[in-house]
Amino acid sequence: MAEHAVVVVGGGPTGLMLAGELALAGVDVAIVERRASQEVVGSRAGGLHSRTIEVLDQRGIADRFLSQGKVAQVAGFAWIRLDISDFPTRHNYGLGLRQNDIERILAGWVDELEVPIYRDREVTGFAQDDTGVDVELADHRPMRAQYLVGCDGGRSLIRKAAGIEFAGWDPSTSSLIAQVEMAEEPNWGMGRDAIGVHSLARLEDGRVGVMVSERDVGHPGDPTLGDLSKALIAHYGTDYGVHSPTSISRFTDMTRQAASYRVRRVILAGDAAHVHYPVGGQGLNIGVQDAVNLGWKLAAVVKETSPESLLDTYHSERHPVAARVLRTTMAQTALLGSGERIDALRETMTELLGMDEPRKWLAGMMSGLDIHYDLGAGHPLLGRRMPDLDVATAAGTVRVFSLLHDAHAVLLNFGKPWGLDISPWANRVLAVDGKYAGAWELPVLGQVAAPAAVLIRPDGYVAWVGDGTDTGLREALTTWFGSS
Ligand SMILES: Cc1cc2nc3c(=O)[nH]c(=O)nc-3n(C[C@H](O)[C@H](O)[C@H](O)COP(=O)(O)OP(=O)(O)OC[C@H]3O[C@@H](n4cnc5c(N)ncnc54)[C@H](O)[C@@H]3O)c2cc1C
Repeated sequence: MAEHAVVVVGGGPTGLMLAGELALAGVDVAIVERRASQEVVGSRAGGLHSRTIEVLDQRGIADRFLSQGKVAQVAGFAWIRLDISDFPTRHNYGLGLRQNDIERILAGWVDELEVPIYRDREVTGFAQDDTGVDVELADHRPMRAQYLVGCDGGRSLIRKAAGIEFAGWDPSTSSLIAQVEMAEEPNWGMGRDAIGVHSLARLEDGRVGVMVSERDVGHPGDPTLGDLSKALIAHYGTDYGVHSPTSISRFTDMTRQAASYRVRRVILAGDAAHVHYPVGGQGLNIGVQDAVNLGWKLAAVVKETSPESLLDTYHSERHPVAARVLRTTMAQTALLGSGERIDALRETMTELLGMDEPRKWLAGMMSGLDIHYDLGAGHPLLGRRMPDLDVATAAGTVRVFSLLHDAHAVLLNFGKPWGLDISPWANRVLAVDGKYAGAWELPVLGQVAAPAAVLIRPDGYVAWVGDGTDTGLREALTTWFGSS
């Protein structure tokens, strides 16, 4: 029987990132993936937002993505551009990069970390008991894990088998996305009309990328070339002689979220936990960030340095983030509708987003840079992302993110060494004395008071802020990294 501490179902972006995080923490993890290869059929995500690039930078792999994509101001709200070039981050932009490439690069990293991927294998169910989970596979070969994570996409079998409610809203619009050839030169670009949005783009290989809204929702079965032709004619009055599709898929604005991200030893992440319309380009990004929030916590529980209750913070921190994405996506879907009243609303929004404060507020949200986990009252850094400062240390100047490459927690002390013995956590927390004389600035919030010390979790969020004393430090270390 194949046995692993953690089995991840689904090797999409979320499953790959989670497996990488667990492997970095030294956990025996394996992925079970239905697809025979990493190839993504059809068009899906087109890029990464700033916070996701930062998260990859925290592991030292951002350059692999940046070198393959196109840096641009990709953040937007219902296609209204949001420039983040004035945000205080090294990555004050987004990255245009196809999901196929994102998955290929992540799979390469996971391969370096020697995570086994059982490809061409399908999970059909599971049974959990007090010590683990029996994973049922279509080929009936036995597999067992201490924890099972469903990263198996929007139609998640794991979510359904766990009986987790997927509450939300039925679709109100339906769209087709396809890669095709056209006999005639089409009318390139994006547009909106009475039916909805449509766009025609020339792909690198000379083919045409089509995205068209359909008149009706609730189509049964897989989309056909006939459906695509009909939708093109409805928007453009012609189908431009569309032929030879390499892919045609359908997506909707169905908006749903798992009521619970965990049932005992079974956990959900990524699209398995939340689905929404692609406008705003959030799905893959929040899936990868779910994985980074969950990875170190699950590793600590598996290694028995933390109690299982640490996993409750995965739900309490990540559920609100996705709920907010669902809400802003529904708002964007409304703004993409048609009619003169919605046009007037769009113009008003465009004017509003031309002003600094509304732009920063919304751009902070869309880029993921404003995420604030509720870790209680205190310094504004508490529960927010640690900025990637250049810190002077005895070993020379280091970037904060480089201290996080191994996915360890970091205690960064800027003041006088206080002489607290944190040796009970020495194998979990890297203590560094450093100096930083510059300003402390956070996206959206602006300048904040310089802290005397910070405890940074492996996911890059600040768990404790020191005022020159060690008040609360031992408690924070115990909460996040287990008792001494
Ligand atoms: C048209 C479109 C455009 C999009 N654009 C963007 C964008 O610009 N930015 C963005 O962030 N997001 C975008 N998204 C969303 C993005 O594609 C998803 O959010 C992302 O793929 C979710 O990743 P995941 O790993 O959670 O799930 P998935 O990518 O769905 O991966 C799930 C994996 O699980 C495997 N699997 C499923 N069931 C089983 C099983 N029973 N056994 C074994 N394996 C199984 C599947 O084969 C798959 O590999 C877009 C989506 C669409 C449809």
